[in-house]
Amino acid sequence: MSSVPDAFPANNDVSGVSSLSQQLGWQRELAQSIRSGEELLRRLGLNPDDLRTQQMLQTAGIQLADQDILRRFPVLVPENFLARMTHGDLGDPLLRQVLPLSDESLAVDGFVPDAVGDLEARRTPGVLQKYAGRVLLIATSACAIHCRYCFRRDYPYAEEPRRLQDWQPALDEIASDSSITEVIFSGGDPLMLSDSRLQILCLAIDQIPHVERIRFHTRLPIVLPSRVTAELIALLTGFRAQPIMVVHANHGNELVGDCKYALQTLVRSGIPVLNQAVLLAGVNDSVEALEALCRGLINVGVMPYYLHQLDRVSGTAHFEVNRERGRQLIQQLATRLPGYAVPRFVQEIPGEPNKTAL
Ligand SMILES: *Cc1c(COP(=O)(O)O)cnc(C)c1O
Ligand code: SF4
Repeated sequence: MSSVPDAFPANNDVSGVSSLSQQLGWQRELAQSIRSGEELLRRLGLNPDDLRTQQMLQTAGIQLADQDILRRFPVLVPENFLARMTHGDLGDPLLRQVLPLSDESLAVDGFVPDAVGDLEARRTPGVLQKYAGRVLLIATSACAIHCRYCFRRDYPYAEEPRRLQDWQPALDEIASDSSITEVIFSGGDPLMLSDSRLQILCLAIDQIPHVERIRFHTRLPIVLPSRVTAELIALLTGFRAQPIMVVHANHGNELVGDCKYALQTLVRSGIPVLNQAVLLAGVNDSVEALEALCRGLINVGVMPYYLHQLDRVSGTAHFEVNRERGRQLIQQLATRLPGYAVPRFVQEIPGEPNKTAL
């Protein structure tokens, strides 16, 4: 316990992580992440100060986000993710997920801060419930990457538990309701917690007899594959409850190198691993891109689970693909792949008893 900080990192702040960098490789890697749009471009050989790049940006209609946006939702991209982007390509589908654009400050009708009704669904601090039998635990506000289309980019994380003892009301709430059979660790990204903190929380939940499954919604195996250590696997496979992992990759180019290996390691350790993706303009809105994504997943044993229609969160309108186009893409995909490789195309509609099939 003595090596565990007594508070979770503040909203979108991973500075607390660097103090642990001596102990853990993935945390050191995290501390070295890229933190500005200009730096991202420079690292891809696109210097925003030179005329040629400026012309390319102009032609592509790209203007970087202003300080107001960046203060609220800073840039954060691990080196490992950057290494999977194509040098000199402004249209790179991985770059597009993380490059902050001035479009984020456009107010667009229908796009609101809490599009998915998270605030209505809060049962106790740290616990959201929308669906029968399963609750979502907001385990931390921190992520290893900041995806510009994120549906929780405006979530009031500061109101959620931080210190371990603050979790007691959430644990009591879950223990008192025997209809809860699955606890989903979410966030933020729950694998941003240190192993010791994760273990304490998971074991407390594992002791609640009616909890049959513990699910982890995480992007870390994709964006920071070094997080998948032997210690983590031992932790995740050491519960009475069945662990399930849902990762988040949007494009086949993410599934290379260390990431592929990390996913294979998880799958071969016996943890069911599913993927959820978001349908994103300029990233994966073609049948070729979706096919490459789904093939990349099944070839490492990860099952495509959901393809989400974008949640209409303020600042993300430029990522939206219309639903009809989404339906066509899924139909075309079904003609190219085995049935198990085709994700369900869904949307989160507040007040519905489950994710809505489109
Ligand atoms: C998506 C979601 C879940 C999980 O839904 P499944 O259909 O079981 O994958 C649970 N809680 C919330 C709040 C969600 O948004
Ligand atoms: S990893 Fe998930 S929660 Fe974190 S910024 Fe990306 S989409 Fe949002």
